[in-house]
Amino acid sequence: MLKFRSVAMLAGVSLLGAACGGPESQQEAEVTQTWEEFRASAVREPWEGGKIIVNGDEALESEEELAAYFHNVVESKLGQSQDGLAVYYIGGDIKWSATQKLNLTYCISNTFGTTNKAKMVTAMANATAAWEATANVNFTYLSQYDASCTASQAGVLFDIRPVSGQSYVARAFFPNSSRSGRNVLVDSSAFGNLSPWTLTGILRHELGHTLGFRHEHTRSTASGCYEDSQWRALTTTYDRSSVMHYPQCNGTQTGDLVLTTLDKQGARALYP
Ligand SMILES: [Zn+2]
Repeated sequence: MLKFRSVAMLAGVSLLGAACGGPESQQEAEVTQTWEEFRASAVREPWEGGKIIVNGDEALESEEELAAYFHNVVESKLGQSQDGLAVYYIGGDIKWSATQKLNLTYCISNTFGTTNKAKMVTAMANATAAWEATANVNFTYLSQYDASCTASQAGVLFDIRPVSGQSYVARAFFPNSSRSGRNVLVDSSAFGNLSPWTLTGILRHELGHTLGFRHEHTRSTASGCYEDSQWRALTTTYDRSSVMHYPQCNGTQTGDLVLTTLDKQGARALYP
């Protein structure tokens, strides 16, 4: 596929969980059972890497397989599949505090060059406006730091810089990143023809990550792009058209990357 078909942002970042734990007493999945409860109740063999046993005698190799099993088998059997915009979740939501969410400051590096920087300023204004219009968050552009808009610039929450020759069009970060990791890197390919996407659309997606949202397609193994189980559903419906869903992962969004009605519901749920 074309290079811009992978708006990857998770490259090199392991989102896999650490060691498993929990009581070794498997329960029948109940209507009220959450993923966390199900995971804690799963039986893990004490040998050969600790395979996870479900349905009495069926072994699963990994936590990822267990998560896929839960989402696809347990929840669907119960008719309570909870899919929709998802927040990065590691024992708690990975999101901005009530004060920080209203002061999400950024700079745009002068190293973009005059033409591309102007495109970035406009696209960021439009992309931030899309999230600000629906969630209680506020991004602020501090252009006074553009001349030294680096990973160590302490005057902003995150920096936006150009890169080239990368496998992604752009990549972002999650709210639990340290200052040095809080960058939105935009590849030179982002300034070419991205049709049907636009630079603004790409940034709407990347800003979703900066707010704590995971890829929507990790909610379903049917997407073919399942990533891991470290997320929490924010709405009740899986949204194949989500701004956070890759179209090439059995997505249904054929135009630009835009916030859907469900995206807006999810964003408001996390940042009311
Ligand atoms: Zn992404």
